[in-house]
Formats: sequence, structure tokens, C-alpha cells
Amino acid sequence: MSNGPYGLIACDCGALSLLVGGSPLALGLDTGDEPVAFWPLAAIQIGQGADELDVSADDEGGDAWGCRRCGERLLYAHDGTGMAILQGHPEDRGDLASGLTLSQQCTLEALGYRVLAGE
Ligand SMILES: [Zn+2]
Repeated sequence: MSNGPYGLIACDCGALSLLVGGSPLALGLDTGDEPVAFWPLAAIQIGQGADELDVSADDEGGDAWGCRRCGERLLYAHDGTGMAILQGHPEDRGDLASGLTLSQQCTLEALGYRVLAGE
């Protein structure tokens, strides 16, 4: 659990950090009712620790990005729909981007996420 401020997300040990730009597409809940935010994958860059980035593909067409050293998972990337799913909701919800496409929303629901209606 390291829900830092959006902009920079670091793992527990600090070896890996990601830079997040722009605004989330939408907010939602994961299968355990924990808050998540859906971002454009293009908004995510590796800040430092590219050598420590451990990308493991799953059976759902996505990749979990984690730290090779501490094992913390930082995000879930879904290449097919160009989305990145991050834990937690941003503090500032005032400027959500354009929202999800229908295919993105269907993919998220198939993965077990719930998309929250815009505020
Ligand atoms: Zn780490």
C-alpha cells in the first residue's frame, strides 16, 4: 500500500518509480471493492528503475508491472485497450479526462472491475 500522490508512484523499496501524467479516464472498484483509477497507458512513464521493472503477462491479455526487488505491484497494464489500472483514487477528481470507450468499459467489466459513474 503506497498510494502516493499522483504524478509519481514508487514501490515499497524505492527502486522503481513511475511517472503518471494527465488525468484518469475514469474511477472504479476492483474485485475486492478497493478503489482503482483507470488511466491511459500512454500517460505512464518509467521514472527510474527500468532494470527492476518486472512485467508478467496474465491470461486476461494484460500485464502486471511490479518491482523485481520488493515484489510490489504498481499497476496493471492492458495493452489491447491501452489502459493502465492503478490502485487508489486521485485526490483531485475535478478533471477526469474524456472517459472510457465502450470497448474499454466492457474489457474492465470482463476483468471484474466496476466502473463508477462520473461525479
Ligand atoms: Zn521495490
